[in-house]
Amino acid sequence: MNFDIDKIRNDFPILKETIYNKPLVYLDNAATTQKPQVVLDKLMEVYTKYNANIHRGVHFMSNKATTETETARKIIQQFLDAPNSHEVIFTRGATEGINLVAQSFGEQFVHPGDEIIVSEMEHHSNLVPWQLMAEKRGATLKKWPFTQAGELELPVLEKLISNKTRIIAVTHVSNSLGTINSVKEIIEIAHKRNVPVLIDGAQAVQHLAVDVQKLDCDFYVFSGHKIYGPTGIGVVYGKEQWLNQMPPYQGGGEMIESVSFEKTTFNQLPYKFEAGTPNYVDTIALAEAIKYVNELGIENIAAYESELLIYGQTKLLTIPGLEIIGNAWNKASVISFNLKGLHPFDVGTILDKMGIAVRTGTHCTEPVMQHFGIPGTVRASFAFYNTKQEIDELYKGLLKVVELFK
Ligand code: PLP
Repeated sequence: MNFDIDKIRNDFPILKETIYNKPLVYLDNAATTQKPQVVLDKLMEVYTKYNANIHRGVHFMSNKATTETETARKIIQQFLDAPNSHEVIFTRGATEGINLVAQSFGEQFVHPGDEIIVSEMEHHSNLVPWQLMAEKRGATLKKWPFTQAGELELPVLEKLISNKTRIIAVTHVSNSLGTINSVKEIIEIAHKRNVPVLIDGAQAVQHLAVDVQKLDCDFYVFSGHKIYGPTGIGVVYGKEQWLNQMPPYQGGGEMIESVSFEKTTFNQLPYKFEAGTPNYVDTIALAEAIKYVNELGIENIAAYESELLIYGQTKLLTIPGLEIIGNAWNKASVISFNLKGLHPFDVGTILDKMGIAVRTGTHCTEPVMQHFGIPGTVRASFAFYNTKQEIDELYKGLLKVVELFK
C-alpha cells in the first residue's frame, strides 16, 4: 500500500514523546487524535499573521481571516460532498452540533405524544440531548436495541417507526463497540416513512469516506479534534430544507439580519446558527487537517486501519481470559475488551506505566455497558499513524498484566 508510515509518524511531533521513559504508544484515538505539524503551523500562522475577528472588518487581516474561514467551509463541504457550503455550520464539536439539532428541530417539529428513536449504542452526546428535548416537548424516546454482537438490526427499526416518529438519531460508528452501522439502509427505511435521520459521525469521518448526498442523511455531525484537527471546533451538515425551517439555536451577534427592541430578523444560512464570534482560528486549522487526510486518501486510511484491526484482534484474542466486547462483522479500528477477573481501570493503569495510552471505563456509553452487565471496558483505538509494532507492545503489556494478577 502507498503508505509511508515513517514519514507519517514524523508529521506528528507528539509521537516522539516518551512517557515514564518509554516510547509513547498512543492507542486512545477514539477519544482524541494527535495533530500533524501542518495543523500546528496553521494555528500559529493565523495567530501570528492575520488574527482578526471575521465577517465584520474592513481591514486586511479581518478580510483574510474571513476568506480563510469561508474557504474552510468549502473544504468541509467538499469533504462531506454536501450540496451547498451554507449547509455546513460550525459548532464547538459533535456534542454541540447534536444539541443544536435536537433543540432547534424539536422546537419546530416535535409535539406532545411524538416519538424520537435513538439506538442503544449511542454516545451520551447522542442520547442526552434527545432526552432533554423529548422531556421539554412532551415526546417519548424509543430505544433501538443492539444484538449481543453489537449490531443494529434493520427489521427491528422498521417495527419501531410509527406515524408518531419525528426523527431518528444514530451513530455511524460506535465509539465503544467499533460497529460500523448500515446508515444508508437506515436512512432509506426512515425516509420511506418520511422520517428524517441525524447521523453522529464523530467516530466515522476519520475512518471512512462519507458522502452526505449518497447517504441522503438529513443531518451529519462530527468533531474536529477526532479527525486530527483542533479541539473546540465541530461541524453540522444539515439539509437546507430543514435548516431553513428551524429556529436559531442561540441568539447573539452575527446570527441576526436586523435588530430593534421590537423585533429581530435572522441572518441567512449558515450564520443563523453561528451566534457570536465563531472559532475561526480552529476552523481554519480544521481545514488543514482535512487536507492532510485527503492527501493520504481516506480509502488508504481505511485499508491500513482495517489491517491494524484484524492484526490487533487476532493477536489480542490469543491472550488467556481476554474477551472482545463488540463483534460486529463491519468494524472500525476500535477494540474494546476485558480481561477475565480484572477491572478495566487496573488494566489501563498498568499499561500506562509502560507508556501505553488506552481508555478505560464506559466511554460515555453507559447503556452499552448496562446491556452487557459490565462496569466498562479497556479500549484500544487505532489511527493511521499506529503500527503493528505498537499493537505488539500492547499485547506484551497485557501479557504482563495477566502475569501480575495471576
Ligand atoms: N459521538 C460519538 C460517537 C463520540 O465518540 C463522541 C466523543 O467521544 C461524541 C459524539 C462527542 O464528541 P465531542 O465530545 O467531541 O463533542
